[in-house]
Amino acid sequence: MIYVTKTYLPEMKKYIEYLHKIYNSKWITNNGEFVRELENKLIKYLGVKNILLVANGTLALQIAYKALELSGEVITTPFSFVATTSSLVWEGLTPVFADIDSDTLNIDPKIIENKISKQTSCIVPTHVFGNGCDVESIEKLSKQYNLKVIYDGAHAFGIQYKNNSILNYGDISIISFHATKLFHTIEGGALIINNDTLYEKVKMMINFGLNSNDEVSVLGINAKMNEFEAAMGLCVLEDIDRIIENRKKIYDYYMDYLVNCSHVKLQKHNEFCNMNYGYFPVVFDSEEVVKIVIDKLKDHQIIPRRYFYPSLDKLPYVKSSDSPISNDIASRILCLPIYEALELKESERIINLILNCIKSS
Ligand SMILES: *Cc1c(COP(=O)(O)O)cnc(C)c1O
Repeated sequence: MIYVTKTYLPEMKKYIEYLHKIYNSKWITNNGEFVRELENKLIKYLGVKNILLVANGTLALQIAYKALELSGEVITTPFSFVATTSSLVWEGLTPVFADIDSDTLNIDPKIIENKISKQTSCIVPTHVFGNGCDVESIEKLSKQYNLKVIYDGAHAFGIQYKNNSILNYGDISIISFHATKLFHTIEGGALIINNDTLYEKVKMMINFGLNSNDEVSVLGINAKMNEFEAAMGLCVLEDIDRIIENRKKIYDYYMDYLVNCSHVKLQKHNEFCNMNYGYFPVVFDSEEVVKIVIDKLKDHQIIPRRYFYPSLDKLPYVKSSDSPISNDIASRILCLPIYEALELKESERIINLILNCIKSS
């Protein structure tokens, strides 16, 4: 079976060395040595000022909303993973969807402006499939209307905008380190916070609101990453350049065959950003073609993913809104398998099956 992604597992020997150290120290959680080491290494690798590791990316979003004391309405993208919206509703906020740009698949800043009301407190865009948002237009809007910005950077590991980590944009950026993501810690995530005062507050928030004297000083929750997860992260981080390099090979292979194919549309990349090759989304001519392609690939034990489907404005717990572009794209998009261990001959098979479907449809 070939799935859309396959978790990268480092050499077991390397992980076991960390396990020995954890067993010896008996310090398995509570801001341990490996969590701190991974934070320091990620600060350097990503090029950010402050980072806080947490249990998962969804919790990172929830904590970001609480830390910035959001209320009322939050303008967000209808084209993202369900967690971007569900976390808002979970925290008692009302998502208001601004439709996406059909080329970049990211929230359209021009549409954001039309959705701003007296109740709006924040904008929550997603860098979809690692493609950087129009961060400058969004920053301008946030200043003009005095709104907070929280970026869902779940896919944005290693992405730079004009040679500066894109995670440095917004009041807070979050990232996910789930096993299915480009870089992972089994389960995990992080908050990236430029403002030092806010960083110090969130540092307490993720640990029951306790300060360095063990006194409760703010409202907090338990969102800590543990040492086993951090150790996995340290192992994966050591191999990350090779992981990205191998993904690029697959990416380039798909690209060679699909870039000039008149029956598919590919995501338009932000020209000021690099790429991390985390996903390979393809937009087909119609939902009918998508279904034909899925069936054909399934016959050959290849399982792509309808990422993201459906459009989030169709979730049962939100007020439906008008996002025609997101709904259209969601109905026609597929993410092709791309991961470190995928072999070129397997991508060749995938491409041939897809090209056959397109020709005969
Ligand atoms: C994976 C993902 C999340 C959630 O991250 P978890 O670590 O799985 O909780 C949030 N937003 C997007 C866009 C994602 O892809």
